[in-house]
Amino acid sequence: RQRAAHGRRHEEARTLDGHRVEVAANLGNTAHAADAVERGAEAIGLLRTEFVFMGHPQLPDLETQIAEYREAFDALGGRPLVARTLDVGGDKPLPYWPVGQEDNPFLGLRGIRLTLTRPEVLETQLRALLMAAGTRPLRIMFPMVKDIEEFRAGKALFDRVQAEVKAADVQLGVMIEVPSCALLAPTLAKEADFFSIGTNDLTQYTLAIDRGHPQLSAQSDAIHPAVLRLIQLTVEAAHAEGRWVGVCGELGSDPQAVPVLVGLGVDELSVSSRRVPLVKARIRELTLVQAREMAALALRQPTSAAVREALEAF
Ligand code: PEP
Ligand code: MG
Repeated sequence: RQRAAHGRRHEEARTLDGHRVEVAANLGNTAHAADAVERGAEAIGLLRTEFVFMGHPQLPDLETQIAEYREAFDALGGRPLVARTLDVGGDKPLPYWPVGQEDNPFLGLRGIRLTLTRPEVLETQLRALLMAAGTRPLRIMFPMVKDIEEFRAGKALFDRVQAEVKAADVQLGVMIEVPSCALLAPTLAKEADFFSIGTNDLTQYTLAIDRGHPQLSAQSDAIHPAVLRLIQLTVEAAHAEGRWVGVCGELGSDPQAVPVLVGLGVDELSVSSRRVPLVKARIRELTLVQAREMAALALRQPTSAAVREALEAF
């Protein structure tokens, strides 16, 4: 089975009834982009740019960032790159950008909230991304956005940079990682070009369980019906405005969850590179009709365990 999946890794993934779902790779290191393409990734669906920053003893300057982003674009051969702007704080410390003592770092200065405190850092990053892209497809998204206000603040910076450095093919999107954003997706979808659902943080904030908690993380299963409902709201809101939606959290490569996400209408799954062939193979096993039935079944369950049982029995 694994060998068959490997053999077809460069083909696009379509369900048995012809519905296409894009399968992309999550990346921390731009030097791994060529490997992702080799494994069949149709795009980089999440470049965790904080790793670019962590690889340097101090804030990387414009030129340094351009060189690293360019490396990813060069390897992609025209495939899109979805770059998340610097996501520091919470579980992602950056030694030379200390956030200070916080009682609840996961509810503190992190993601877009943190970068907006130093707009010049965000501006340099946006400039580097646009300059590295040139004519190649670039998608930029902000992490940990809670509502339209933060998106607009980031977009104002982006618009300023874009007026100077014109990239030919660029979209600006939002990561859906905070429940408020999923609930307010209809408003966001009017102004953002796309959504990418970060199910790792979305699950953490929906179930109120620390994603890395040694005792509790086993109880924090992203296939939880509450999380699935937020995904459903997000997809419906996006599609109503003609926007696309990806899933870039771990749930996207969970074999039981793939049919559910496809059935909910997710357009792109971004997963770790080595899982790309298997996720494509999983999509090819189903019809969209079946996937929709599985999604409906999952949404009716009361707990994540019940979702898994119901899907197993389907
Ligand atoms: C997520 O939260 O699901 C996500 C993709 O981002 P990260 O895991 O880097 O927080
Ligand atoms: Mg996250």
